[in-house]
Amino acid sequence: MSASNIVHLLGDDGVKLDKRAPSVTLIVPVFNEEASISAFLGKVTPVLESIRPRISFEILFVNDGSQDATERLILSAAAEQKEIGLINLSRNFGKEAALFAGLRNARGAAVIPLDVDLQDPPEVISGLIERWLAGAKVVNARRKCRDGDSWLKRVTANSFYRVFNAMAEQPIPQDVGDFRLFDREVVDAICQLGERSRFNKALFSWVGFEADEITYERPARAAGESRWSYWKLWKLALDGIFASSTLPLRIWTYIGMVMALASLTYSFVIFVQTILFGNDVPGYASTLILILVFGGINMFALGIIGEYVGRIYTEVRQRPVYIVRSHHPASHTDD
Ligand code: UDP
Ligand code: MG
Repeated sequence: MSASNIVHLLGDDGVKLDKRAPSVTLIVPVFNEEASISAFLGKVTPVLESIRPRISFEILFVNDGSQDATERLILSAAAEQKEIGLINLSRNFGKEAALFAGLRNARGAAVIPLDVDLQDPPEVISGLIERWLAGAKVVNARRKCRDGDSWLKRVTANSFYRVFNAMAEQPIPQDVGDFRLFDREVVDAICQLGERSRFNKALFSWVGFEADEITYERPARAAGESRWSYWKLWKLALDGIFASSTLPLRIWTYIGMVMALASLTYSFVIFVQTILFGNDVPGYASTLILILVFGGINMFALGIIGEYVGRIYTEVRQRPVYIVRSHHPASHTDD
């Protein structure tokens, strides 16, 4: 393990890391997952055992307001396996919030978020860790196929990535979910972003750092059913787009400009026509000209307001202005 991977920093929550702290934290958000917990632990434990000689682990469950036996099951597993930790949220806040809670409280020198339904196969963990030990700060796990997902989900997901990447300032990689590895440095950077409505995938891209990548086959859910309804996914998509782009606000400046120009030209045409040939309907020309010109000016003015609102939005998120990857100060030359 490289020295920089062991040197720990202070997290936002002030998580002070000591020598006994695990080197890798698995963050597992769970919402009504009583059917999946034991299968998950059964699958993940042997994988961790096989890597353990080199690396210690912490499995941090974030219980996102489950109403079933999820909490009880995790606590009884934790009684036997001391590397299991649990954070109970007071109600269901959604996966994005649960994951953030996990990131802020993870103590590992590297962090891997993964789903409990075994759609993020635990076997892949060792590959992620290998790349990390080789020096990567971020290792993405890209799914080769989405056979586990329905036709509709694949189509909607694809169109979302297309729209998002066309609009957002920082594109997100397609077919890479939340299943990745982050070095402590990257986790701290993500936790520094100040916004409240968080769309993790976009934040993960925004903080930068060079990403390595491995691919895997994504299986279907092992037990239970997806906790995401299409309505929830739609809201998540909107959150993602509006949180990452001010284009929907600013576009009106340009539409307004084009409208104003076009209507001015058209007004001129009607004006000349009326002067030269007269007009059968009195008042028609002046009314139409007024409607067109004011419509265009209105839209343009909306766009200007949009520019300001967009800037206010950027400010209130309180993101850091930059994130330093490394710093090599000049060595002294006078001795
Ligand atoms: N999840 C959560 N809160 C929610 C919805 C989901 O913590 O409001 C967890 C869920 O328990 C699972 C993970 O997020 O561990 C992924 O959820 P799911 O498998 O339902 O999503 P999909 O794989 O269909 O995208
Ligand atoms: Mg799933």
